Amino acid sequence: MSEPAADIIGIDLGTTNSVAAYCDESGPRVLTHEGAGPLIPSVVRYEAGPRGEVRVQVGEGAKAGATDAPRQTVSSVKRLMGRSLSDVGADLAYLSYGVVAGERGTCRVLVPLEDGRELILSPEEVSARVLETVRAVAAGALGREVKRAVVTVPAYFDDAQRQATRTAGRLAGIEVVRIVPEPTAAALAYGLGLERAAGRNAGESVVAVYDLGGGTFDVSILRLTPSPDPGEPYYFEVLATSGDTRLGGDDIDHLLMELFRTEIGAKVGAGEGLELPPQTRRQLGALAEGVKIRLSEHEEAPVRIDLGGGAVYERTITRAELEAMIEPLVLRTLAACDAALRDAAAKHSGLAVSAVVMVGGSTRIPLVRRRVGEHFGLEPYTALNPDLVVALGASVQASILSGARRGALLLDVIPLSLGIETVGGAVAKIIPRNAMVPATATEMFSTSVDGQTSIRLSVYQGEREMAQDCRKLGEFTLRGLPPMPAGVPQVQVKFMVDANGVLSVSAVERRSGKRASLQVVPNHGLTHDEVERIERESLKHAREDMARHRVVDLVANGRLDLKWIEDGLRRVGGLLEPDYLAQMRSAADTLRTLTDRAHADWRSVNPDTLHEAKETLDRLSVRMHEIAIAQSLKGSQTDAGA
Ligand code: AMP
Repeated sequence: MSEPAADIIGIDLGTTNSVAAYCDESGPRVLTHEGAGPLIPSVVRYEAGPRGEVRVQVGEGAKAGATDAPRQTVSSVKRLMGRSLSDVGADLAYLSYGVVAGERGTCRVLVPLEDGRELILSPEEVSARVLETVRAVAAGALGREVKRAVVTVPAYFDDAQRQATRTAGRLAGIEVVRIVPEPTAAALAYGLGLERAAGRNAGESVVAVYDLGGGTFDVSILRLTPSPDPGEPYYFEVLATSGDTRLGGDDIDHLLMELFRTEIGAKVGAGEGLELPPQTRRQLGALAEGVKIRLSEHEEAPVRIDLGGGAVYERTITRAELEAMIEPLVLRTLAACDAALRDAAAKHSGLAVSAVVMVGGSTRIPLVRRRVGEHFGLEPYTALNPDLVVALGASVQASILSGARRGALLLDVIPLSLGIETVGGAVAKIIPRNAMVPATATEMFSTSVDGQTSIRLSVYQGEREMAQDCRKLGEFTLRGLPPMPAGVPQVQVKFMVDANGVLSVSAVERRSGKRASLQVVPNHGLTHDEVERIERESLKHAREDMARHRVVDLVANGRLDLKWIEDGLRRVGGLLEPDYLAQMRSAADTLRTLTDRAHADWRSVNPDTLHEAKETLDRLSVRMHEIAIAQSLKGSQTDAGA
């Protein structure tokens, strides 16, 4: 047992948001407290209190007030950390607050209080306020004091910037036990570099970390060398970095805003030069971001703005339109990737990237994922929330430093079966428990309803037979299928668990080639005890679960049979001998009654009786199907002749 005093948390001290995380035996998790989300805005607002004291507000509250008090609200202070005023130069134009020179050319933040006083603060002091809040959130979540942390910084931070980060920690009462580059943390969150700790032989490898956030883009190429030191199971070296400090999701929002502004201008007869008041611009910005985010999930997004006086701006924007608009932006990031790869190759001959890790909210955009995947020729890692992955990785490093069981961070076998939900709520297991990692398995599925143009796939983990008794890992939708009769589409579902325990599930409909995929880390949040409990439960319920699974599958298949038979009878019923027709009808009625009863309550039907009824109907229907096929062949010959 490690002592709580040895607790070390991970902190992603971000430009826009900060996040705290903690890693124990069940893997890394983000810390939240009192209903707030995991993202703590890195924003600090200073105010004069009634008794002359200085009041400080941090996080959501400070961010919300930023428009009212721009000069008292300090955001993006990370851009100033450890830099001289001359270094910061161009960045100043983007800050709403004052920055002045301190001693030896350093930066100081200048905050004019309402009562006429002026505060002159070092970036470290401002940053410490953010860290204090992060520390309080972590302490609240863990229920104990937090004094030590691993803090992440951008890979390109120099010594002065790293030192400033340590100082900020100290001012916040936190001992910064290690500074870790953000890309290294992201790789650690996925277990990269921990193979040795898990007793696996791992050679040297190269990892690319692609980080596209709201305002900045960074790419880093890391070299991972196995280290002989068990206390330091990995050794990452940043071979090269590249990027653009002014490129990110905000630029996409601007492109959409410009589109709306121009089209609204045309609509109201103001042409290109439509001027919008700041309030309206902000609203349009929020709308644009909403549309962008919707298009990451959906194929189209409706936009409707009431322009007043009966005029309405209304249009639908499709994902394809957005993709065409942002393609040049994505290409710029890929050019930066190439630049970083070239620099890295100069240091490391024969360089071959073996994993790509995605970081930053904008990597949720499907086009970004697709292009990055194509560019590196690798499926990028997207299983972890791209806004939290850096903090999660910092906590993994923290747990290593605090001497946590390192082997627990990576597994050699899949502890619980993985599968997908099928019609009726049963789970089809695709990778069985105790399969060795890496593991791959494929299975074919189809639809249960005619003309279905999308299929929702829900991924489950567990040993029980019904989805409701298993742990849901995620879901995704295969869209854009051409309408086909039930049972005709051929959907190939592939499960792949890689050496780091990351599960990729992909579904492809064979005929249309439509595909969709999902990535998750199944073992995060799962302790050894829980795995054992789940196993015990599955044994306890095994018999009943099996019976239920069987009934559910029989109902689904029986209904599909009934549908085909009804279709057949409608088309060729008149051509069948009356006796045979009566037999068919009676067998179909029997099966229908049984499936309906079983659907309402699976226990009310003996699975063997249900099976028998289905088999009887299947056997009987062969003749009808033959006649139906003969009819349709004749029909198609006549069509061809006409
Ligand atoms: P970060 O700086 O990493 O927090 O990233 C924030 C950026 O990610 C903002 O520009 C968001 O609009 C963008 N973002 C967040 N979620 C999505 C999404 N689902 N699709 C597209 N962009 C997103």
